Amino acid sequence: MRALVKTEAGPGLKMIEVPEPGCGPDQVKIQVLRAGLCGTDLHLEAWDDWAASTVVAPLTIGHEFYGEVVEVGAEVTGIRPGDRASGEGHIVCGRCRNCRAGRRHVCINTIGLGVNTNGAFADYVVLPAANVWVQPEAIDPELGAIFDPLGNATHTALQWPVVGEDVLITGAGPIGVLAAAIVRHAGAKHVVVTDISDYRLGLARAVGADLCVNVAATRIADAQRDLGLREGFDIGLEMSGAPSAVTEMLANLNHGAKVAMLGLPKDPYPIDWGRVITHMITIKGIYGREMFETWYLMSSMLATSTAFADAVRSVITHRFAAQDWRQAFEVARAGECGKVILDWSVS
Ligand SMILES: [Zn+2]
Repeated sequence: MRALVKTEAGPGLKMIEVPEPGCGPDQVKIQVLRAGLCGTDLHLEAWDDWAASTVVAPLTIGHEFYGEVVEVGAEVTGIRPGDRASGEGHIVCGRCRNCRAGRRHVCINTIGLGVNTNGAFADYVVLPAANVWVQPEAIDPELGAIFDPLGNATHTALQWPVVGEDVLITGAGPIGVLAAAIVRHAGAKHVVVTDISDYRLGLARAVGADLCVNVAATRIADAQRDLGLREGFDIGLEMSGAPSAVTEMLANLNHGAKVAMLGLPKDPYPIDWGRVITHMITIKGIYGREMFETWYLMSSMLATSTAFADAVRSVITHRFAAQDWRQAFEVARAGECGKVILDWSVS
């Protein structure tokens, strides 16, 4: 089968023929139809410090996918060949304190599909049955392929009740834009999104953000004035990983505000802890999705609101045949895009 592989330690990837993976007794084999390109994949391709310290080559990368179940292990129940499915890319241990308490999303031994174990940029992927999310037959394959980032956005955006709240989202990458769509759907009062790319801010505007602020030219304080906010934002969703965005966010929050942090910074950076303490701000780190409550919420929102599904779909801006993966990576790296999809159903 075809697979996009990090064949050796160092920059680059190769599309090569590899043996099809076998399906263990508690595993499911899925023919990949669509896959989403993620920032993680760009880091793996470029081989930065994080990738070099994390990955053991050879490795098939990719973790956002949708496909058709073609084989299930002898011990698997409730999943059948022919089912359409997406997959949770965090594989948990089932034995640590949090796993045993039912808090699998905070497993201390989590390993990542396409990072620590062979992933989904291939014709077939095998993963534990417990990680498979069976989708309704009618789902748009492209939507099925982005449940992983939509899940990041959902997990972050719904960390606290947003009904009637003023929400500030820093970073208009695909996950930031999806988060804007989610808090809008969930009843936020004002939704403000910041970035330094007008293209990406345009995507946020299209999903219903009230105000999109290019922070290269405008301060968030001006946006507050424009919207008539008197006390600051109630909820902050940090999606950029940029230290300057966090500084600006903290400077524009109400007392008692709550912040969910998803954007991964490149390096450690200082925080104005005096402000956090005296303004009584709650900051929470978010990683991955809640298994499988986040998946349930995503499916419910998509199934009950055409407007929400359309907003989510609008984040997908580019599609490439899997063979044209180099172009897909180029587009994703250049940044003038939302979500980039690889189509594995064409040979
Ligand atoms: Zn665990």
